[in-house]
Amino acid sequence: MKTIHESARDIPVRAEVDVLVVGGGPAGITAAEAAAGEGLKVMLLESRGYLGGNLTIGLPILAFLDINGKQCIRGLAQNLIDRLAARGAATGHKRCKNHMSFTMIDPEAVKDVALEIMKEKGVEVLMYVFVADTIKEGDAVKGVIIESKAGREAILAKTVIDCTGDGDVAARAGAIMHKGDADGGMQPPTLMYNMRNVDVQALRDAIVLHHDEFDMDVMPPEQFVSGTFITVGLRTQIKKAQEAGIDIPVARTILITGLAPDEIWVNMTRVNGVDSTLPESYTYGEVTAREQMKNVTAYLKRFVPGFANAYVDKVAPFMGIRESRQTECLYMLTADDILQSRRFDDCVAVAGYPVDIHHAKGGDCTMLFGKDNYDIPYRCLVPKGVEGLLVAGRCSGYTHEAMAATRVMSTCMAVGEAAGRAARIALREGVAPSKVDVAALRSELKETGAYLG
Ligand SMILES: Cc1cc2nc3c(=O)[nH]c(=O)nc-3n(C[C@H](O)[C@H](O)[C@H](O)COP(=O)(O)OP(=O)(O)OC[C@H]3O[C@@H](n4cnc5c(N)ncnc54)[C@H](O)[C@@H]3O)c2cc1C
Repeated sequence: MKTIHESARDIPVRAEVDVLVVGGGPAGITAAEAAAGEGLKVMLLESRGYLGGNLTIGLPILAFLDINGKQCIRGLAQNLIDRLAARGAATGHKRCKNHMSFTMIDPEAVKDVALEIMKEKGVEVLMYVFVADTIKEGDAVKGVIIESKAGREAILAKTVIDCTGDGDVAARAGAIMHKGDADGGMQPPTLMYNMRNVDVQALRDAIVLHHDEFDMDVMPPEQFVSGTFITVGLRTQIKKAQEAGIDIPVARTILITGLAPDEIWVNMTRVNGVDSTLPESYTYGEVTAREQMKNVTAYLKRFVPGFANAYVDKVAPFMGIRESRQTECLYMLTADDILQSRRFDDCVAVAGYPVDIHHAKGGDCTMLFGKDNYDIPYRCLVPKGVEGLLVAGRCSGYTHEAMAATRVMSTCMAVGEAAGRAARIALREGVAPSKVDVAALRSELKETGAYLG
């Protein structure tokens, strides 16, 4: 590749903070919230013009409850739901055989509530800045370099928490990063969109009264009788559409009821082979998904009950990324840990979502269920060989298969909370985050409402 030499230059230091959280998605919001307090200066950086990350693309939050119906995600994640519910912007946690539980949220309300929380906690939010590099002294991260319309600037921080989903900070800091399965295959991304004027009752009736005909995955008809629902299945309808010459990128029809009575969110575009860390690849994904939307919409209108008069109302502001970089951490959680419900002494979050791998090739998915919830050890948040940095959310220390379970937003919020609290304790104790007293961390998390088993 042709290269040019970029000259070294002095750049302004925009801020010096105690804890710097990069990325304002589910993990970043709770990380910043948990870090704030005790007079610490906490700052949250976000490249977009709002907080929420994937909480804003029309997805329900999965698995606040585990396979036995026990609520394993509590703490700050539950506080967010309570605040949303108080303004009619979230439902309760509805049990589901396939997803353990789902909780519908209003994406716009999430943006408002997240900002309110940051204001109350005194977290300084800076949007429209993209973290492009890190500042290091030896093995320790001492801050980040940001790019924005104001140019290139530095932010110095005693501790940085990477909540970028893609592990941008960890990657720039030289942590060992992994991508995908043994062949580098990553779960494909999806551009979410919603449709209005759907006859939701007609869809509900079709599934309840003709369950076998509509071929639902692990979903008994009772789940659809009342209230919100998610469909995963209708494989027979997709086959019919394909026989009629409509190209559909997925094997299953995934539809999610919204908060409005005539609203359905469609989780059915899928572009295999996209790598969100390469702009040309992500661009290809966005462009291709917009094309796919036309076929998926035609399919729904012609082959799925309730959609005949429906129209596309909103497209998510960006294509959602299921998988990209994982950070090599002091411990890498495995699918076996999850399926065996393995317990760890340094558990800082308990999660309940099963292994749910959208195949890198083709249009299908594999789901593997354990018998109970499982622990997430603190070591999964501590990158190997890099100090001053924690990784929380999708980019934490999980193998490809384990990440297919821990990626759900309830778990990301619980892990974000643990990272934020650990950063606060590290500063109080005057130690690196890797040396935090995990017993103290666990007891503080429990005291403030987190569930650790
Ligand atoms: C199509 C799809 C369907 C899914 N379905 C569900 C579901 O139904 N329920 C569920 O619970 N989970 C679901 N998931 C998983 C879940 O949405 C994600 O795994 C989760 O949101 C990850 O949270 P996060 O905080 O790690 O990252 P994100 O939600 O991606 O947030 C990262 C934030 O960091 C910002 N950022 C990124 N890079 C930088 C940078 N360099 N500088 C500054 N800011 C940056 C981003 O703008 C973003 O706001 C789905 C995911 C996808 C893609």
